Amino acid sequence: MKDYHIHYHIDKCADNEMTFPNIEKKCLELGINEGTILKHYSALMPNGEDKWICWYKTILGQWQQYLDEFTAYKPQKMIIHSGVETELCNEAGDINIHIEEQNKIEMVQLSVHYMINLDCLPMDLLLYPNLNYCPQFNNEEGKRIIEEWRLKTVTAGEENIICGLVNGYMNAIKRFPKVKSLAHIADGLKPLRTYLVDVDKVPINRIIEIFEPLMRLMAEKNVMWELLDEYANPAILKRANELGVGFTASADGHFLESGWGPLSKHNEAETILDNLSLRRGKIEF
Ligand SMILES: [Zn+2]
Ligand SMILES: [Zn+2]
Repeated sequence: MKDYHIHYHIDKCADNEMTFPNIEKKCLELGINEGTILKHYSALMPNGEDKWICWYKTILGQWQQYLDEFTAYKPQKMIIHSGVETELCNEAGDINIHIEEQNKIEMVQLSVHYMINLDCLPMDLLLYPNLNYCPQFNNEEGKRIIEEWRLKTVTAGEENIICGLVNGYMNAIKRFPKVKSLAHIADGLKPLRTYLVDVDKVPINRIIEIFEPLMRLMAEKNVMWELLDEYANPAILKRANELGVGFTASADGHFLESGWGPLSKHNEAETILDNLSLRRGKIEF
């Protein structure tokens, strides 16, 4: 088995126990013989500061430390690749790591951690409309701001917003060959749901039609569709499978045994692939 999305202790969000030897040991116990141990990389935060909600701008010393430790570690029994998890920024396909830094690693896991800047819906709102993460919006003023945002999504049009997200992913894949997997993409609609876009207003056949060019491009370029153990509309996944997309399972492990992920839950994501009879992909490095 493979897991191309395992976090490393240098990032604040990952546990101290996430070292190369510990991760390798746990992977071998789980039956994972190939994986990517990656670092978060964000050249910029949406608010222009060092921290935003629970994300951090990359500290260059820590980045170098990751690269050095990767080079120094010689795996015993598994294949370990280097990589980053970074964000898709906008519809043009800009991603949150410069090309010179991309060239230092084997792959990019491309995430949508927060709403991207769309032509039809500019990212002029620096809030994450989840009150668990942003309790400061849990008041009348905060609710007014969130409602204002929701109305903007209605004006922009749900279908246009889905098209914008698909364009962003496609442009990034075309521009950056190190993008080899779309991280925790679920059915592609999760970030839009988080940002209060009423995607379920759009008929499922139309959603699939909008996603098909992305699915075909992923199949052509061998870019993985990564699934965690979370809800994703099976109809979208089945169509991607029919069009030749390769899927991978991950726990997005930030801990070995407990806490976020953890890596030990990898097999739960594999079960989702099995239950939906989705084809397993393999990244070519
Ligand atoms: Zn992520
Ligand atoms: Zn992650």
